[in-house]
Amino acid sequence: MYLQTSIDDLPSTSVITKKRFRSIGINTYRDLINYFPFRYENYSLHSTIKRLQPGEVVTLRGTIEKAKFEITRKGKKIQKVILNDGTDTIDLVWYNQPYLLRLFRPSQNLSASGEVKSFQNKLTIEPQSYELLNNPKQRTIHTGRLVPVYSEQRGLSSRVIREKIYTILSLLTDESLTEFLPGEILNYNHLIDEFEAYQQIHFPNDIASANKARGRLAFDELFVIQLAAKLIRNEWQKEIVGNPFRIGLVEDQKLKEFIDDLPFQLTDAQKRTVKEIISDLKKPSPMNRFLEGDVGSGKTVVATVAAYLSYLNNYQTVFMAPTEILAFQHYNTLSRLLKSYPLKVGLQTGTKKVANTTEHYDILVGTHALISGKFSLDMIGLTIIDEQHRFGVVQRASLKEKGINPHLLTMTATPIPRTVALTLYGELDLSVIDEMPRGRLPVKTVLVTKNKRLRGYEWIKKQIKGEQVQVFIICPLIEESDVETMKSVKAATKEYERLQKEIFPGFNLGLLHGKLKSKEKNQIMEDFKAKKYDILVSTPVVEVGIDIPSATIMVIEAAERFGLAQLHQLRGRVGRGSKQSYCLLYTESTDKKVVERLQTFTKIQSGMQLAEYDLKLRGPGEIYGVSQHGYQDLKIASLADYELIDGTKRAVKYFMQKYSNIAEFPEIERRVEAYKVRKISRD
Ligand code: ADP
Ligand code: MG
Repeated sequence: MYLQTSIDDLPSTSVITKKRFRSIGINTYRDLINYFPFRYENYSLHSTIKRLQPGEVVTLRGTIEKAKFEITRKGKKIQKVILNDGTDTIDLVWYNQPYLLRLFRPSQNLSASGEVKSFQNKLTIEPQSYELLNNPKQRTIHTGRLVPVYSEQRGLSSRVIREKIYTILSLLTDESLTEFLPGEILNYNHLIDEFEAYQQIHFPNDIASANKARGRLAFDELFVIQLAAKLIRNEWQKEIVGNPFRIGLVEDQKLKEFIDDLPFQLTDAQKRTVKEIISDLKKPSPMNRFLEGDVGSGKTVVATVAAYLSYLNNYQTVFMAPTEILAFQHYNTLSRLLKSYPLKVGLQTGTKKVANTTEHYDILVGTHALISGKFSLDMIGLTIIDEQHRFGVVQRASLKEKGINPHLLTMTATPIPRTVALTLYGELDLSVIDEMPRGRLPVKTVLVTKNKRLRGYEWIKKQIKGEQVQVFIICPLIEESDVETMKSVKAATKEYERLQKEIFPGFNLGLLHGKLKSKEKNQIMEDFKAKKYDILVSTPVVEVGIDIPSATIMVIEAAERFGLAQLHQLRGRVGRGSKQSYCLLYTESTDKKVVERLQTFTKIQSGMQLAEYDLKLRGPGEIYGVSQHGYQDLKIASLADYELIDGTKRAVKYFMQKYSNIAEFPEIERRVEAYKVRKISRD
């Protein structure tokens, strides 16, 4: 049996089930056994019928005496089985599952698990799980053990997934699933064997074994990710940058003047980052730096310094943003910062063309359609990528395909804890701007519960009238999706009408949503900027970096539906001018955990601290803002598990020192390659 066997070869499996597996990316046996359970149901307590105690969750085995349909005195339709295990009989009861009677025949062996209930002095069980057995000794899958529970998707039930995984695992020999890590790494980290780990993660003997299995497989996952990062990094270091920079005394001097001429002093964090970037740009190999910094921490200025160096070397800089609005904003920021310098800045997006293909630009700003455009790219010295959903490896790959190998600076405002960034994006060098420009007032954040809702609205009116400020109102998040659906648009429109009519008559309200054409969106933003509206009602799409300093109040409806990362992004839309800004979190929820999460949010201003807090709240496989943006998800390891991260990092270091030729480890090589492909193909 080979793990690369196609899912189409699964024995006794319907075409539709195979199709469903394919639809969730399970194409081979290997994929299937890597679909891990997220918890276990404990049905491992066996009992005889005679010794049953009410309240116990047990598994019984016996033969079916009778299976019949009944209507209870209260009129409920039930399917009843009388089960005999040689010590006594008991009634097993199901509600409204008529197909069971086609399945169950007298004298068949049945195993059933569930809670023992006492009803009018008679014990019964409503089985939570059951299975027919060919013989009384047969090993059970769905009962009589710790039963794995899988996440159900696209009509695939946990039961079907369990059954198919069981089939594969029972065909598996330790030849088809050989140990792939060197023995000394296993020993040093107290890891169980690979074959054992797969058996025990799905069908554990006990919880301790399940945990050991999880530990082993999580180790594998982080080991491969980090090894891949190191190998990619080594490859990149051997490369020569297409257009190398010269940074001598003259350039140093000009750069110093440029920085001194900025309308403000750089923060220490900005200075440090600039230094790191300059030292990269001096090298013959391409820079691959990942710049992380909260919204408003001043990444664009840092990027501009790098672009200026590129210009001093007579090279172009390409500056890519994920949306037109953002590209336009960057274009404005850059133009403003470079006002008194001879650099030519161009803008090119789907609808706005400030650039002209025949002209030369020192900095070309646009959406990522830029590099597929008509511009000549051979003089690019530096590429800056803001808030793109894809990271280094991918961008590098696509640029190289086009025959260019420039220095690369990737920026994000998503605060990813340092340990996490170093783990997931270890092929990149990391710079963090962990400090806000001085003099910025923290945004006062308030939780507005149901009984304070109207008072909140009154306060907003007063602020608009008295302080001449503008307000964002963000509608509830209807669906977790990057693209906006009609449903969300309709809900936003309704909310807009309600607010205009019932709450804010006499005020000017605008409505912004994702189904508007780019041109309309830009117009609305322009109008808002020009103060034609007091309030801009918007779907959560405005989340990404728009800059309107006169808007100082951010209202978020149904705040509990947003992740902390999104809330933080939204709050970052205000607090840009010199006036005190406010963020109002409206919620109707009274759930203690929800309220606590939102309360914590009101107290923490730093995105990085929020990220750390969020990481603690979440389970394995989810990370703050990252899975939301589809950057990367982990199957089994937890990024909050610092010990594991440390252990795997050390193991990778050891491995690379001891075994210089990875080809001697075909399975490690296969996994690393598979991981790279996954990373590149991810959107
Ligand atoms: P982001 O990191 O979100 O891209 P920006 O680079 O757009 O942040 O900077 C946000 C605002 O702060 C801009 O108006 C910028 O001019 C200003 N700014 C940047 N650095 C400083 C600084 N050191 N001191 C004062 N203002 C700064
Ligand atoms: Mg920015």
